[in-house]
Amino acid sequence: MVYDLAISKVPLRCLYSYKSQEKLEPGERVIVDFHGRKTIGYVVKVSDKPASRELKEILQRLDRVSYLDQSDVEALESISERFFSPPGLLFDLAFPSFIDDYAETVVESLTPLVGFESLPLGEFIKKYGHDALKNQLDKGYIQLKKCFGRKTPRPRVSKWYVVVRNGLKALTRVHDEIEYDVISFLLTNGYATVEQLIESVGVSTKKIKQMQQEGLIELTQFLPVNTENLELAEAQLEPAPRGVTVLSGSTIGERLRSVIAFMKKITDENKSVLILVPFTSLTYMVAGFIRKFLNVTVQVYHARMSRSQRAKVWLDSVGDKTQVVVGTRVAAFLPMRNLGLIVAEESDDDAYYQFEDPVYDALELAETRARLRDIPFVICSSEPRLIDFHRREHLKWLRIPKENLNSDVSIVDVRQSGSILSEDLVESVRKTISEERASVILVRRKGFAPYVVCFACNHVLMCPNCDVALSFHKSQNVFKCHQCGYVRKAQSECPNCGAKALYPKGVGTERVERLLKYHLPGARIVRLESEELEPFEVQEQFLKLQTNEIDVLIGSRIVLQGFGTDRVGLICILDYDGLLSQPDYNTRLRMFQTMRKIRSNFTSARILIQTFQPQDGFLRDVFTVNSEDFYLEELKKRKEVNYPPFCDLVQVILESDLPQTGWELVNYCVRSLEGETVLGPVEHPIFKMAGKYRYHFLIKTKDLRKTLSKFNDVLMKIGKMGWRVFVNPPRLW
Ligand SMILES: [Zn+2]
Ligand SMILES: [Zn+2]
Repeated sequence: MVYDLAISKVPLRCLYSYKSQEKLEPGERVIVDFHGRKTIGYVVKVSDKPASRELKEILQRLDRVSYLDQSDVEALESISERFFSPPGLLFDLAFPSFIDDYAETVVESLTPLVGFESLPLGEFIKKYGHDALKNQLDKGYIQLKKCFGRKTPRPRVSKWYVVVRNGLKALTRVHDEIEYDVISFLLTNGYATVEQLIESVGVSTKKIKQMQQEGLIELTQFLPVNTENLELAEAQLEPAPRGVTVLSGSTIGERLRSVIAFMKKITDENKSVLILVPFTSLTYMVAGFIRKFLNVTVQVYHARMSRSQRAKVWLDSVGDKTQVVVGTRVAAFLPMRNLGLIVAEESDDDAYYQFEDPVYDALELAETRARLRDIPFVICSSEPRLIDFHRREHLKWLRIPKENLNSDVSIVDVRQSGSILSEDLVESVRKTISEERASVILVRRKGFAPYVVCFACNHVLMCPNCDVALSFHKSQNVFKCHQCGYVRKAQSECPNCGAKALYPKGVGTERVERLLKYHLPGARIVRLESEELEPFEVQEQFLKLQTNEIDVLIGSRIVLQGFGTDRVGLICILDYDGLLSQPDYNTRLRMFQTMRKIRSNFTSARILIQTFQPQDGFLRDVFTVNSEDFYLEELKKRKEVNYPPFCDLVQVILESDLPQTGWELVNYCVRSLEGETVLGPVEHPIFKMAGKYRYHFLIKTKDLRKTLSKFNDVLMKIGKMGWRVFVNPPRLW
């Protein structure tokens, strides 16, 4: 038999054919010789190629079973074709290599002659030696196989939260003084991390474990989410039993609450639920929320977890042991055997699209998997994705109505004053604090200031590798490039004229924090920065916002990740008008979705927008326009100029060491694509990036498969180096 294989860790966009005498399963891992190197391959399908002599043999079967469902193998192959992505790298995401750290190689007997059924490899060698191993393998008496689940991953729990089980009752069940101290400490503070308990109460890790076994306390990564104002959503909605359902309107809390009964039905049938969210920190909040309503095991899965924690969830997935998993885009690859439902929350967020290799859209992968397994897929967001609105007649459409929508919006013109924080803003925050409510300040950019400019010669400090201005991060005292990661110690001397006259310009989260602390001494001001916290620590800040322990929360879009709360009385939006001038056909749609999410999440907050472009009515209308009207208008415009969803859009970027060579190559490529509708080529808006010169062009196509295959033929002729391809990217730069 000939099989088509995806080769692990190989960034090439094709399958490779190998022969085998044995019958292999789709998704099974094998060892092959790939250009003289022993490499892992994944069986994708039986090849339609004949078994010729030139084809190489598969050297060894690794697991002798497939841990991936056949439908998932098909889904990965289809995503690889659709996104022009290397299949080997996609399979690697479904089968992370560190899983092998928890596997054991076992010797299995194939004949009663050898006197055992199976032995761990180490034991076999100890007993019979290396020669016997080789000898018996050659004779076909034994075979090797990897087994999972024999070694259990042990996650470190020192940063986990400890909470009391059974509330005050726990105090009557304690056995000694130290247990009493732990319980009273937790009851007073609500929760503590294991580390904090050891430090504050002087309890030992051993004792904490004992108390956990006694059922007095619980170790968890999820804090209880505030579920105020969810009465409305107690009415349950009924998504379609198969196919796609779009659930829009309201907040993430209300949406999830309204499909709890649907999820319960799935878990009651011993099937599992996969919930996708766009951000790492949100996984913990959603997990805590689900646990409040469903008495099931909830696990999180994302790329920032430790390997042992990820391995645990992966092993549970292939072992039918999961019930609910909440994860980021990488969780769309999780090979849950008994998957019964996929829910994707905040589906309008572009974090579902991976721009690095392998490029993919996790929502498309999720939808494909659901379709091939014939299970329901529920796509949720405050305002729907445009593509879903466009196809709304072909899917189940649910919307949570919301009354008393907030329309208290003030636009503050800062053209004259040029100030970073207008007087209006500072006064509004002060007033909100005096009313014992919180303010949320959304700033588009992180750091202290997005530019560093010379006072004497107007020189703007640029990244040496990119056409991007360096930003200033005061807390670390560095200049940073947000595109390539270049970092340099901050300085005051201008590299252009030598004057000691560099100063920061523009608005960043750090600068807003500093100014507000100056204007409002004594206020409890917190800047939320995902890089400075463990992902699960973010939920603590949102909990504090709800429980009146924070007056002002500042951050980039991370501040919108909470579940929304009525305690927020003011939300200020800074520097977002800058987005309006970006040359990207999706900008206004994304702005619309973000602003509407703000309106749903903070229903009783006043909205204050600082802008340099008050003449642009968009920011004012965005809160009041009827959603359907907005989408119909957007679709009309796109139809006129033939943009997605009326066609597929392929962005092709060429990165080149030499500008002239790149320009000639990209032009040659476009000429070779005769017959396709191509816009460009032109220089990319960020022409130089990470030391490379970049050109791009767009292809609009009604037949994506044909276009990509044609493009691939061109690459075969001119070489594959330096080309990057994005199919329907949510943003062009
Ligand atoms: Zn750079
Ligand atoms: Zn200068």
